[in-house]
Amino acid sequence: MSGSENTGAQTASPAGIDWPGVPSLRAAGARELLRQLDDSQWWAPEKLEAAQFRQLGNLLAHSYRTVPYYRDSLKVLDGLRRRELNAEVWSRVPVLDRAAVQQAGPDMFSRAVPKDHGSISEIRTSGSTGRPVQLQGTGVTRLFFNTLNLRYHIWQGRDFSGSVACIRNLSGAMKSSAARGRGQPWAPTMGPGRMVYFDITRPVREQIEWLGEVSPKYLLTFPSNLKEMLRLSAETGFKPDGLAGVATMSETLDPSTRQECRDVWDIPISDTYSTEEAGLIALQCPDHDHYHVQSEHINLEILGPDGQPCPPGSVGRIVLTDLHNFASPLIRYDIGDYAEIGAPCDCGRGLPVIEKIYGRQRNMIRLPDGTSHWPLLSYDKFIEIAPIKQFQFVQKTLQVIEIKLVVERPLSAGEEEQLKNLVNSRLGHNFDLRISYHDYIPRSASGKFEDFRSEIET
Ligand SMILES: [Zn+2]
Repeated sequence: MSGSENTGAQTASPAGIDWPGVPSLRAAGARELLRQLDDSQWWAPEKLEAAQFRQLGNLLAHSYRTVPYYRDSLKVLDGLRRRELNAEVWSRVPVLDRAAVQQAGPDMFSRAVPKDHGSISEIRTSGSTGRPVQLQGTGVTRLFFNTLNLRYHIWQGRDFSGSVACIRNLSGAMKSSAARGRGQPWAPTMGPGRMVYFDITRPVREQIEWLGEVSPKYLLTFPSNLKEMLRLSAETGFKPDGLAGVATMSETLDPSTRQECRDVWDIPISDTYSTEEAGLIALQCPDHDHYHVQSEHINLEILGPDGQPCPPGSVGRIVLTDLHNFASPLIRYDIGDYAEIGAPCDCGRGLPVIEKIYGRQRNMIRLPDGTSHWPLLSYDKFIEIAPIKQFQFVQKTLQVIEIKLVVERPLSAGEEEQLKNLVNSRLGHNFDLRISYHDYIPRSASGKFEDFRSEIET
């Protein structure tokens, strides 16, 4: 993995200490946790579940005792002894939705976070669809985030001395790092590799020029942005020199983008599923395109409309519990995303499988007969009809969908008609499609891009 032999440098010794290298508490903690995770990933599902229920029992007891919100909502479990927690009892714990967390405000915060959980930090979700959620993290939750991030890189066989080019929406600190151009270490406890940043709102042509200049070992960006980079590369014949892997984050990665990355750049691609509220939830399996739930950190349920767990092959809403957040516990939190549960993986890991992540309900199309599904919109088919550079569908009502287009030249009446026919056959209904033309379709404040968005209230 890491090409460096200098253990002093890898463990980020305190200033002035070269030998022997002294690990920081954070580095030592992450390594020790990693050692345990290296073992537990191979546990049988039953053993993982039993360990989870022990930890969940601790979390429930702490939450009931010290968090005002749970004083009421966990009353159903009053009198229960911790060792009695099992799947049946767990299913009686109420599901928590985003609106309840917003309404509870500071009542979601523990009045007595154990001191040895470390300093408390604020978590404020970006709130791209409305009011943000306010939560708190601790040293323990940050340790899990860092350690699972390392596990991901190890699973994907990354070289910790290699550089990473990250194209995303930039926070203040990232902006100044981007301006200085030197970047910062991306896994300082493992190797000297540095991460450099570029602003995702810059034109894709500039992004590609920059990628050519910095010539990184890895690229990290959002799937929608990668898609545009690949499209331009296919047009111009650009291939990033020395790039060994692409990693995506934050949005759902569809199979066609995975395939394009392999076709256009001939480079492997991997993905993670994370949320602002609870960090890394699932990591791509080292051997497959599907994901493994990070059960040592998260209890994840995929529930059907009846509130019961979905069987493999079906799609349901994701309900999760952060096992270690004792500052603002999230217990059976309906995150708003949908996913398909998978069969056990042949790689031998006992961690549950998510076959596919579908994203938000607002990205589902609603048909007049009351059914909903995730639209499969294929860019490849669109450009066979006309020179379309970018598109976004906005469902206005059960019958009306606006198709926003950025084009190289206006479409002829015949092309518009062909496009509408293709879209309606894909969507499975004869919608009233209204095409509008734009110079540019902006990303949301969080940097994410939705190619399908519904404005129908659910
Ligand atoms: Zn696997």
